[in-house]
Amino acid sequence: MAGAATLPEQVKSQIATPLLRWYHARKRSLPWREQPEPYAVWVAEIMAQQTRLETMLPYYRRWMQQFPSVAALAAAREQQVLNAWEGLGYYSRARNLHRAARQLVAEGGGRMPRTAAELRNLPGIGAYTAGAIASLAFGEDVPAVDGNAVRVLSRLFDVDTPVHTAAGQQRLWALAAEHLPTGRAAEYNQALMDLGATICSPRPKCNECPLQVHCLARAHGTQLLRPVKRPAAELPERGYAAGVLWQAGRVLVLQRPPRGLLAGMWEFPNVELQEGAAKAQLVRGLRSQLGVRVKPGKALGEFEHTYSHFQAHLRVYDCGMLSEAITPARPHKWLTLRGLARLPMGKLDRSVADRLQERHAS
Ligand code: SF4
Repeated sequence: MAGAATLPEQVKSQIATPLLRWYHARKRSLPWREQPEPYAVWVAEIMAQQTRLETMLPYYRRWMQQFPSVAALAAAREQQVLNAWEGLGYYSRARNLHRAARQLVAEGGGRMPRTAAELRNLPGIGAYTAGAIASLAFGEDVPAVDGNAVRVLSRLFDVDTPVHTAAGQQRLWALAAEHLPTGRAAEYNQALMDLGATICSPRPKCNECPLQVHCLARAHGTQLLRPVKRPAAELPERGYAAGVLWQAGRVLVLQRPPRGLLAGMWEFPNVELQEGAAKAQLVRGLRSQLGVRVKPGKALGEFEHTYSHFQAHLRVYDCGMLSEAITPARPHKWLTLRGLARLPMGKLDRSVADRLQERHAS
């Protein structure tokens, strides 16, 4: 992250003045902006990372009702927190929010630190979130460069250093800091974010942009080449088969291990597929995981989901149980279909639960 701003005020204002004027005329109305309370900004900024605003807003409202303060979040059970986060993905963010809330309560009665430097000591708070909370809620003159601001700044200054590199990040944070108008960090940071979200979008509307006369990428015709990104890697594909096992009108779910992907969440028993017949692998896998003999019947459906580092394809089978006792090594529950709604599940397993609900409702 860059150091203090160094440009004289009149140079800063070349960009800041039209940017802030535009912001006051066009800013997006968001619930945590009116009276930016640090906990609300924190929750909103963590939720908004890699999630569309329209998607995260209902989650944000529900979360703030369920956990209205640091203390309320700290007092919640992890399963409640994961359940409230379900569907947003990246569950480590929810876990970090929870851990940080507990740390704040244990260390200072739930009071949040006021500076970006102190905020960064909390789990899950990086440079961007720290800058956003410190500037929006406490008025500290620090930049906050999110993906939208990255796009604006790299075009405005025609930055050709790849933005995922340390040098690229350093340059963008330094530019954001240099042009930050003293005492107005909250508006300036939000203005850059809003401009990137609405005008300087992947297909920029330069003719509507308040900064068009200052924009180097526009002058050079390089808008669509900025920011310079790492070429997208093709994600590997992984196949899975899952079984829906019934007993007295209830289905079996298992809890995932406490670490790793979707840690602590619940799933239908499944195996990762290798070459060969899916049903036979499911039978062998469930016998070794649960000590149970099953007979997969009709396929319930196929489901897909893209995680950050692989694409998952899941085939699901209704399974008859040829032996009754199960001996799973992990925590398990037999639940009614309605009961499944109370457990936190990843996207794929929730889709399976929804499909079961639909089938049994019809
Ligand atoms: S002129 Fe175009 S490319 Fe430059 S900042 Fe504005 S919208 Fe982005």
